[in-house]
Amino acid sequence: MRGKLVFLGLLSMQLTSTGMRATEKTNTWPLQSNSVIQTTALDIYRQYLSSHKKIAAGENPDLETVNRVGNQVIVAVKDYYKGKGAAKELEGFFWEINFIEERKADAWCFPGGKIAVYSSLLPVTQSEGSLAAVLAHEIAHVVLKHGDIRMKQYLKQYLGGKDLAASLAANPLETKDFFRMAYANGDYVGVIRGFDTKDEMAADELGAILTAMAGYKAQEAVVFLERMIWFRNTGRTPEYVLSHPIDEKRTERLKEIVDDIARKYYRPISKN
Ligand SMILES: [Zn+2]
Repeated sequence: MRGKLVFLGLLSMQLTSTGMRATEKTNTWPLQSNSVIQTTALDIYRQYLSSHKKIAAGENPDLETVNRVGNQVIVAVKDYYKGKGAAKELEGFFWEINFIEERKADAWCFPGGKIAVYSSLLPVTQSEGSLAAVLAHEIAHVVLKHGDIRMKQYLKQYLGGKDLAASLAANPLETKDFFRMAYANGDYVGVIRGFDTKDEMAADELGAILTAMAGYKAQEAVVFLERMIWFRNTGRTPEYVLSHPIDEKRTERLKEIVDDIARKYYRPISKN
């Protein structure tokens, strides 16, 4: 699927590859089937939920917003792939959103569509459109398989070159830590390792498309990035900026394409 996405091709022409990183070098090396990745993600997600405070109905008015906006973005990603004749890409995805009491401004999505949104993200996103842009960006990372590439690298470099199932059998705790680092940027294992610029830009582009399809202005993605830069420059860096490094190259690129995306993909929110 990666190779079929035009925007990835465009991005790779414009970006200088950062050496070892890559797509090209790890593509042929087996990580594991999607179903093993998704089963592992589900297992770790359930463990995560059992040890963190899930916000329940009536506890926080933002819960309704998170669920509603999140579900609009989920409908958008399903329709996006269906429209490309590639619904198969989302096989095994059983989407789920949980809103977590957490004093970090961040969110992540695991393979199979398991999403965590932290309560402290909402004061940073400030509007439904920005929240949609963030969730769309997270979902874009997962459907573009950016975490898979990282997990392959970790298995190869740090976990003895085994595939995921073998590594889990031999060394479950460490393998799960690397899995969290690969897919959720390690935010909750204490070592934050952000995605690289190339992946960020690809997720920005698909994220803007999904934001527009979810019924919001695609430009919200730019507004959000600019607000993150402002936070960073005033010394109050949200965790989101650490896990999704923001530089001017990202915002400039997004500004160039976002109006076109808005024109092509915007559709009003369905009232159904
Ligand atoms: Zn990102």
